Amino acid sequence: MNNKPVALVTGANKGIGLQIAKDLTQHGFTVLIGSRRFEAGENVVQSVGPDARTIQLDVTDEASIAQAEARIRKSYGRLDVLVNNAGVGHGGAAGRSNAQIMAETRLSVVDLDELQTVFATNVFGVVAVTQAMLPLLREAPAAKIINISSATGSLTLNSDPSNPLRQYTSTYTASKSALNAITQALAIELEGTNIKVHAVCPGLTATDMSEYGGPVEDAAREPVRVASLASQSPTGTFSNAQGALPW
Ligand code: NDP
Repeated sequence: MNNKPVALVTGANKGIGLQIAKDLTQHGFTVLIGSRRFEAGENVVQSVGPDARTIQLDVTDEASIAQAEARIRKSYGRLDVLVNNAGVGHGGAAGRSNAQIMAETRLSVVDLDELQTVFATNVFGVVAVTQAMLPLLREAPAAKIINISSATGSLTLNSDPSNPLRQYTSTYTASKSALNAITQALAIELEGTNIKVHAVCPGLTATDMSEYGGPVEDAAREPVRVASLASQSPTGTFSNAQGALPW
C-alpha cells in the first residue's frame, strides 16, 4: 500500500491543473491526473513525475466518476487531497468570437443551454465528484478539498462599485459564486470531521481558458500551499496568493 499522501486533481491534463499536479509531486504527493480524455492525461503524465498516474475522469459523467472512485479505492484505499480544478469558461466557442461569447454569456440574455453547460462542469461536477470521493477522504488522517474558484465570483467584491472586475459578470462568474456557496456549505456540513474545505482564486492566468494573465506557475502556488499545509488547514475560507478573499 502507498504511504505517500494521495491527491486527485480534476482537469489536470493542461493549464493550471497540470501545474498543480506537477507541484504536488514536488511536495511528496502521489498525484492522480484527472482527465476526461485519458490520452490527454497520458501525454503529460511523464512531465508530472514518477509518482503521477492518469485517471479517466469526466466530472459531468456519473459512470466515469464512479469508476474513478473505484480505481482510487482499489489502489490506495483513501484520498488525502481533492483539487476540484476542472472548469469551463463558456458553453463552447464554435463559430463565436470572443466578443460574441462575452455578450452572449451575460445573465440578462444567456441561453439556458449555455447556463446549463457551464454549471454542469463548474458547479454540478464539483458536487458530484466531491460526494463520490467523500468516503475516500474520510479514510485519510487529515483530508482537504480545494475548489479552484475565482475572485470574479465574489459577491462582496462585485458589490463594490469601485471594483473594475464587476463589469465582467457572466454565466462563468455566477458559476464561481455558486462554487463559493458550495465550498462554504460543505465546510459547515463537514465541521468537526477530518475534512477541510477551502476555495482558491489562482488569479488571471494565460491558459486555453484565458488569453491574458500570468504564468501557471504563479497560479498553482496558493492551491499547492494550502494542499501541503501540515496542520491548521483552513476551512470555510477563500484565498488567493495575496491572502484572504471575501465570499
Ligand atoms: P484550461 O482550459 O487550460 O483547463 C481546463 C481543464 O478542465 C482542462 O483539463 C479541461 O479538459 C478540464 N475540463 C473541462 N471540462 C471537464 C469535464 N467535464 N471533466 C473533466 N475535465 C474537464 O483552464 P485553466 O487551467 O485556466 O482553468 C483551471 C481552473 O482555474 C478552472 O476551474 C478555471 O475556472 C479556474 N480559473 C482560471 C483562471 C484563468 O485566468 N485561467 C482564473 C480564475 C480561475 P480538456 O483538456 O479535455 O478540455
